[in-house]
Amino acid sequence: MTKLTARFVTSAAQPSDFPPPSWPEVAIVGRSNVGKSSLINALVGKPGLARTSRTPGRTRLLNWFAIDERFFLVATRDAWRPLIESYLGERSSLAGVVLLIDIRRGAQDEELDFVPWLAQREMPLVVALTKADKLAKHQRRLEATRARQALGLRRDPLVVSATGEGGTGHDGHSGIDALWRAVAQLAISKPRAPGPQ
Ligand code: GDP
Repeated sequence: MTKLTARFVTSAAQPSDFPPPSWPEVAIVGRSNVGKSSLINALVGKPGLARTSRTPGRTRLLNWFAIDERFFLVATRDAWRPLIESYLGERSSLAGVVLLIDIRRGAQDEELDFVPWLAQREMPLVVALTKADKLAKHQRRLEATRARQALGLRRDPLVVSATGEGGTGHDGHSGIDALWRAVAQLAISKPRAPGPQ
């Protein structure tokens, strides 16, 4: 995977804290403990990056990371709270959403409601099942099919592991490369606006 630059930019606890919309944003959404921070760290190859958001005073609901000075990854904490809905529903620079679901839990009520909610807004969506290293390969496939059917997706969700184990991806590795490509695809699907000053 090509090395890229990633840096923490800002966090927000309320809409007035949001940075002005500029580069395209890809939001990473999922229940708490689904593996959002671990996956962001694995995606950008920086073990401590997403944990920055946990230091006191920065325990906020939305955290912006600049990727290659081209787009933002926006990590949400505890999805489906009103602030996050208003961010996802109203953010003009939002290019797409990555929904993470723990592979052992599968899609539940929140996800079953959330996917049509995004579809109504014509928001591009990538679904990924996390912690794939916890299941055997044949079970991963079964869970991917089950999630596709439950959520009415056109294809199986990605299957990923932040540990770098598991041989979950098409490339025989952790699925991180495939997820990274999907994130980049979402980001470039949106016309690029001038970056922040
Ligand atoms: P967040 O609350 O969604 O940001 O989730 P975290 O990234 O903090 O992960 C929650 C817990 O799951 C932590 O103990 C992680 O070490 C663990 N975890 C995250 N991703 C993986 C994974 O791919 N495989 C395994 N086995 N554990 C993981």
